[in-house]
Amino acid sequence: MTGSLRSDAQDTVLRGTPVVPGVGFGPVIRPGRRPEVPTDTTVVDDAARGEELERFRTAAATVAARLRGRAELATGAASEVLSANAAMAQDRGWLGAAEKLISKGTRATAATEAATQQIATMFEKLGGLMAERVTDLRDIRDRVVAEILGVDEPGVPVPTEPSILFADDLAPADTAGLDATLVVGLATSLGGPTSHTAIIARQLGIPCIVAVAGLDDVPAGTTAMVDGTTGDVVLDPNADDAARLVADAKAELARVSGWSGPGATADGHPVDILANVQDGAGARAARSSAADGVGLFRTELCFLDREAEPTVDEQAAIYGEVLEAFAGHKVVVRTLDAGSDKPLRFANHADEANPALGVRGIRIAEQDRGILYRQLDGIAAAAKATGSNPWVMAPMIATAAEAAAFAADVRERGLKPGVMIEVPAAALLAEHILEHVDFLSIGTNDLAQYTMAADRMSSQLAALTDPWQPAVLALVSHTAKAGAAAGKPVGVCGEAAADPLLACVLVGLGITSLSAASAAVAHVGAKLSTVTFDKCVEAADAALRADSASAARAAVAAILN
Ligand code: PEP
Ligand code: MG
Repeated sequence: MTGSLRSDAQDTVLRGTPVVPGVGFGPVIRPGRRPEVPTDTTVVDDAARGEELERFRTAAATVAARLRGRAELATGAASEVLSANAAMAQDRGWLGAAEKLISKGTRATAATEAATQQIATMFEKLGGLMAERVTDLRDIRDRVVAEILGVDEPGVPVPTEPSILFADDLAPADTAGLDATLVVGLATSLGGPTSHTAIIARQLGIPCIVAVAGLDDVPAGTTAMVDGTTGDVVLDPNADDAARLVADAKAELARVSGWSGPGATADGHPVDILANVQDGAGARAARSSAADGVGLFRTELCFLDREAEPTVDEQAAIYGEVLEAFAGHKVVVRTLDAGSDKPLRFANHADEANPALGVRGIRIAEQDRGILYRQLDGIAAAAKATGSNPWVMAPMIATAAEAAAFAADVRERGLKPGVMIEVPAAALLAEHILEHVDFLSIGTNDLAQYTMAADRMSSQLAALTDPWQPAVLALVSHTAKAGAAAGKPVGVCGEAAADPLLACVLVGLGITSLSAASAAVAHVGAKLSTVTFDKCVEAADAALRADSASAARAAVAAILN
């Protein structure tokens, strides 16, 4: 695990969604330039229209043939993806839309762009898996435009030494041809857990992180380390440290890949190992991990681009996808945690001097109960439609009264209520909160931010927001004890649960479930299976007694490693 680089003030750390575990280190390479998206709206005369039509058809056929050829050379998912893209380059709807424009006088390049835009808009409206195919379609457009213009095919350069590939998003034709001995890490600023970048990176075993903020500003040639378990991209790390972390990660990966659950310590103390997801696609991807359910469904992430509140029916359909992916398993749905770093246009105020301490999470319901009611109605409808019994929790609860009001609204709809413990006030009074709800889930990301008075987004303060901070662990301990006394489960769904060593500490503190990004699930489960519950308790005691996060980490490593 790479926790040791996270607190080093001289490293710049960018964060994203980890999708393929492992660590890669090397110089950054970037894909070759894509052709300018054509904006030339000139109408060509009748005589030229036939030529333009011919140029377009030939280019599309050439691109399709090239992709088919690569599909034949590739294997497994990579081959399937390339074949699907070759078919897309000959899709009748897309070809027809472009040909229609050309026959009205639009140039072949501009018609390729306009037809792509038409189909992409349709895919985006359909959402889910279809929306993720838009990247593939735009890749076809770029290849066809390059072919029409007679310029080099856009794509990834072949590196001469093990390198890290940074890109906006990668097209299948780029990823499928990657040589995993030369491209040892991947990071993209766009993409989701089931985008083709993720699917093929997983198949090739290349550590991969998607949706990394700030990646676009990093020039080719910078040295970088990509940690596909934590989601960290570290720029200019110490080379010796990075090499050690790469070796550790390889050994770790070999060890954990056989773990398939269920979660338990070596002596059989059971712990639910669950996945954090953000939509149906993410849940389907998590289903192929060893996760035994969903411990945190971050519903607000489904609506970040919405101007208006989604209808109850629309919400029910979206939530239903996640429930369906984990039919018969535990799924914990979190109500909208809008605000601060995740503002929703339909829920938040534009101007707040300090949004992390402002109207976010459940506090939105204090201003407008209707948003919460409609969301709970959507969750209840999804539960009914799928025959599931989801657990439902509220974020940013600070008082027992807030928990009581939320629980009443959830129970009214036949659902099981719980709350997140992210505010120190809630941790301190967990026993009162537990009088009203059936379970607690500790969000260590925010609990660390609010306990340590340190912005979780600040890389300068990363040592303070480290969930190994003994003060944070003391609040986790207090909350877990309150849960045990009440006979109610207390889970952790913050990033602390993705750190295998810290996960053992959490179990020793009395935590009953751990929920992490699906890429981290096997790492956590495998580590837990090697230690006894007594050792976890001993490690937890040592961490609580430490006088800093790094001392806690070192003390626990000495006991558990
Ligand atoms: C947390 O705060 O730990 C948590 C899980 O919620 P989020 O990261 O979505 O704020
Ligand atoms: Mg939180």
